[in-house]
Amino acid sequence: MTKHLQSVDHIYDALLNEIKEHKTKGENVMAVFDLDSTLIEVGPRMTQILRDFAKEKKHLGKYPKECRILEKYNHHPEDWGIEHCIERIGLASSSFDFFKDLTRYWRGRFFSNDYLQFDEPLPGANEFLQELHKNGVHISYLTARESKAMLEGTVQSLKKHGFPLEEKNENLFLKEKMEKPDPEFKRDILKDMVNNYGSVWFFENEPINLRVVRETLPQVRLVYIDSVHSGREAPPTELAVITHFQRQK
Ligand SMILES: [Mg+2]
Repeated sequence: MTKHLQSVDHIYDALLNEIKEHKTKGENVMAVFDLDSTLIEVGPRMTQILRDFAKEKKHLGKYPKECRILEKYNHHPEDWGIEHCIERIGLASSSFDFFKDLTRYWRGRFFSNDYLQFDEPLPGANEFLQELHKNGVHISYLTARESKAMLEGTVQSLKKHGFPLEEKNENLFLKEKMEKPDPEFKRDILKDMVNNYGSVWFFENEPINLRVVRETLPQVRLVYIDSVHSGREAPPTELAVITHFQRQK
């Protein structure tokens, strides 16, 4: 099926046009961005965690062969989750203990403040948001990162990379209750925005989140970021698709 690949310039122009249209009605335009694999590349975070695992003495003693491979680990843009990475570098047949230790080590760090300093923006992402912000588009960040474990590192990382952030981080939404599924969490935040803005756009890499928003809030304009995703659902085929945020103009 054909993907509706669109240029970043096209999306940028459409957003700025909406600003003009809604201004006459006294309404604002909101652009909402997921973080991981939408604005942020998580590969460097992954790489650092796996290399650090390989440096620890207790791991070197228990798993010398695996550590020799992991110390040179480089993330591949198509990797999603720890299992995929391990399989790609040929460690899928390692012992259960290795997999258990590595997964525990990875989970405790990947979903924490400690390694967010290694994250990098997707190409052009920070400039794209700065330009939108400068031109009057309201910006929000909507991520399933857990607030308790990741808020501080998320704020630091957004500031470090120059993403527009309001005082008291009012435009940043993290998950307070982890038991709520991601699609419903995102849909509920977006629902509030739909009631308060003339137009709401949502940029996201996870197909299931896009599908749920599309089914329940058809007025939200959706952009699929074709980076990497969980594979829980097939990518959408009828949405605008971009792979980065670099404008040509
Ligand atoms: Mg994401």
